[in-house]
Amino acid sequence: MRKLIFALFLLLLSTPVVSAQQFDLVLDGGRVMDPETGLDAVRNVGIRDGKIVRISSDALSGRRVVHASGLVVAPGFIDLHEHGQDMASQRVKALDGVTAALELEIGAPDVAQFLKSKEGRSLIHYGTSASHVAARAAVFGAPLPAEVIGSQSGSPEILPKSGPATDQPATPEQIEAMRERLRAELDAGGLAVGMGIEYTPGATRLEVIDMFRLAAERRLPVYTHMRSGGVADPGSSIESISEVIGAAAITGAPLHIVHINSSCARDSLECLSMIEGARARGLDVTTEAYPYIAGMTAVNSALFNPGWREKRGIDYGDLVLPDTGEHLTKQRFDELHNSNTTRWVLVFSNTQEIVDKVIPHPLVMIASDGAEGHPRNAGTYSRVLAQYVREKGMISLMDALRKMSLMPAEMLGRSTPDARQKGRLQEGADADIVVFDAATISDRSTYAKPMDPSVGVRYLLVGGTVVVDEGKIVPDVFPGRALLGPGKRSALHR
Ligand SMILES: [Zn+2]
Repeated sequence: MRKLIFALFLLLLSTPVVSAQQFDLVLDGGRVMDPETGLDAVRNVGIRDGKIVRISSDALSGRRVVHASGLVVAPGFIDLHEHGQDMASQRVKALDGVTAALELEIGAPDVAQFLKSKEGRSLIHYGTSASHVAARAAVFGAPLPAEVIGSQSGSPEILPKSGPATDQPATPEQIEAMRERLRAELDAGGLAVGMGIEYTPGATRLEVIDMFRLAAERRLPVYTHMRSGGVADPGSSIESISEVIGAAAITGAPLHIVHINSSCARDSLECLSMIEGARARGLDVTTEAYPYIAGMTAVNSALFNPGWREKRGIDYGDLVLPDTGEHLTKQRFDELHNSNTTRWVLVFSNTQEIVDKVIPHPLVMIASDGAEGHPRNAGTYSRVLAQYVREKGMISLMDALRKMSLMPAEMLGRSTPDARQKGRLQEGADADIVVFDAATISDRSTYAKPMDPSVGVRYLLVGGTVVVDEGKIVPDVFPGRALLGPGKRSALHR
C-alpha cells in the first residue's frame, strides 16, 4: 500500500513536468552563434517538429535535453560542392559538421534517378544541378551511366572520358538538344545548371552562352568549373573567368564559380578582384574554395588533354594516385589517361601561401569539392575551424561560420525558397544544427588516410533528428531531404 501511495505521489509530481515538456529536444546552455543576426551568446534552444522554435535565456524543458555548455551551437554547414554522395562520405561529412551536401559543380547525370536513389536513405540533405556535361555526352551519343547504386563508390559517374563528346564543337541542332535535355532535368528537380567547361573543351563560347541563357530563362544560377586554370594566355584563368562573367552579364543568370583556389591558383587574388569588380557593377557572381593545396579529378578526363603540363605549369610527378600514393610518370599517365576505366588522381598544383590568402577572403565561401580519395571529403570544415580560426587566427569564428552556413544558404536561395530556413540559427529556421567544441575541433584526414573523420563535432541535427550523438554517428536514421529546384517544386504543388 505504501508503495502504491508513493507511486501515486511520484506520478503527481511528474505530471506538471510532463505538461511543461514542450520541446522534442533542448540544446541547453551552449554558445549560440548566428552569422545573420550576429547573435553570439549563451542561450537555450528549443526544437520541435524539425524546427528551431525557441531561443531563450530562460530554462527550457524537452523530452531530451542536451547539455551544450562550453560548446558552440551553430547552423549546420552547407556544402554546395560534394561529389561523394555515398553513405561513407555522408558519415564523414556529418562528423565534419555538414547537414547538407549538394552536387552542384557538375551535377548528377540523371536528376530523377539521383533523387530517387537517395530518398529515405540519406543521412544529410542533398540536391543536384542539371549537368551540361552529361547532356552534351548524351547528345553526342556517349551517355554517362545514370545508375548511382551500382557505381563503385555509390556516387554517380559525373565526368566522361576525353573523346569526341568532350572535344568536338556541337552543331546548332546539338546545342538545342542539350538545352531540351537540361530543361527536362530542371523539371525533374535540378537546382541550377552545372557546367564543367574544362571537361568539355569542345564547347564553344556560344555554346556556353546558350547554356547560361537557358539558366536565365528559368531564373536559375550556373555553377561552373571554368574553361581553364592556365597560368598564361591563351587558356589563362583570367581569360576563363572573363568568359563566364561575360556570359553572366549577357544573360542575367547568377554565376557561382567553383573552387577559385584551384581554378585560378597563383592568380587567385586577381580572380577574386575580378569577381569584386563584377559585383560592384551589379552582377550576381559568387565563389568558394577548399583549404588544401591539391585538387583531385578523373585522370582520363579532358582536363588532361595534351598541353595540360605547359598550361598549368605542373608535371607528371605532381599527379598522385590516392589509393597507393604513386607519383605518375609519363608512361603511367598515358596508360591511365587513355583507359576507359575512370581513376581519380590528386593534382598538386597550388601553394599554401595562396590557399592562406584565398580562404579568409570575404567573398569566399567554404565548399569541399569532396569525394573519396581526397582528405577534403572528410576534413574541410574542421580544418578551417582548426587552422584558420584557432591556430592562425586569420578568420573570426563568426566569419568562418558565415562562410560555411549563411553564405551557401544565400546562394542556394537563388534556387529554392527552402534555403531561407537554412544556414541560420534563428527561431523559425530548420533545425539543421552543429554543436562543436571550438577548442578541439580538428580534421584528421590526410592524403594517406583521406577518410579519417574529424573530431570535435559533438552533436549534429538534421531537420531536428540527431545524427551525431556524443561524437558518434547514430545508426539507421535517414532524415536527409532533397532540396529541389522550381521545376519539381511547382510540379509537386500543382
Ligand atoms: Zn572542379
